Amino acid sequence: MNFIILGPPGSGKGTLAKRICKRYHIDHISTGDLFRFNIKKKTELGKLAVSYIDRGDLVPDDVTVGMVQQRLSELAPDEGFLLDGFPRTTEQADALAEILTNLDRQLDAAINVCLEDDVIVGRLKGRRVCRNCGASFNLDTMPPKVFDVCDECGGELYHREDDKPETISNRLAVYRENTSPLIKYYEDRDILVSIDNAGAPEETEAALFVLLDQVTQRAKNRK
Ligand code: AMP
Repeated sequence: MNFIILGPPGSGKGTLAKRICKRYHIDHISTGDLFRFNIKKKTELGKLAVSYIDRGDLVPDDVTVGMVQQRLSELAPDEGFLLDGFPRTTEQADALAEILTNLDRQLDAAINVCLEDDVIVGRLKGRRVCRNCGASFNLDTMPPKVFDVCDECGGELYHREDDKPETISNRLAVYRENTSPLIKYYEDRDILVSIDNAGAPEETEAALFVLLDQVTQRAKNRK
C-alpha cells in the first residue's frame, strides 16, 4: 500500500500516520521529521531548511522534492509507504506523481484529516514532542505519564518552536493557501479518503481503518 496523509498542522495526522503504518506494515516517511533530524545533525540540508521551518513557511520545492525522491528510492520494491507532510503544494503533488511513475508505483489513497482551526490552535499549544524519538503528546488530551518525559523512550519532551501561537497562524494560512487545493486534486483522481478528527482518537482510528481496509481490499482484487 502506498498512502499520503494530508491535513492542517495540528490535525493529528502524525499520530494517525504512526498507527496506519503499524496496521498496514508500511514505512512512515515524514518530511517534517526528516527536516528536524537534519537540523539536529546540523547537515547542509538542515542549515538550509531551519529558517523556513522556524517561520512556519514551506521549505523550497527543489530541496524538499529531492529529499523525498531520495528517501522513496531507498524503499525495497515490496515495501509500502505513508508520506506524512508531503506533498504540500500542487507542484509537489505533480513531482510525486512523476517520481512514483519512475519507480513503477502508484498511490492507493490520499487520506485527508479534517479539523477546525480553533480546535487546532488549542491542540498545538498543548503539544509536546520527544526530542529523541519524535513521539507526540498533548498536555490536555494525551499527557505523558511523567511531566516532560517521553512514555516511549524516556527522552525529553519539548514545545516545538513552530507550535508557538505566533507561528501557528502562519502555518494554518500556508496550509489553506498552498496545501488545501490538494484535497480536490486527489478527489479528482478518485483516491481521496476523508476523516474527521474532532472526536476521540480511538474513534477516528477505527472509522479510518474501515475505509482503508476497503481500499486495501480493492487493491487486492485488482491484482
Ligand atoms: P510538519 O512536521 O509536517 O508540520 O512540518 C514542519 C515544517 O517542515 C513545515 O512547517 C515546513 O516548514 C517544513 N516542511 C515539512 N514538509 C514540507 C513540504 N512538503 N514542503 C515544504 N516544507 C515542508
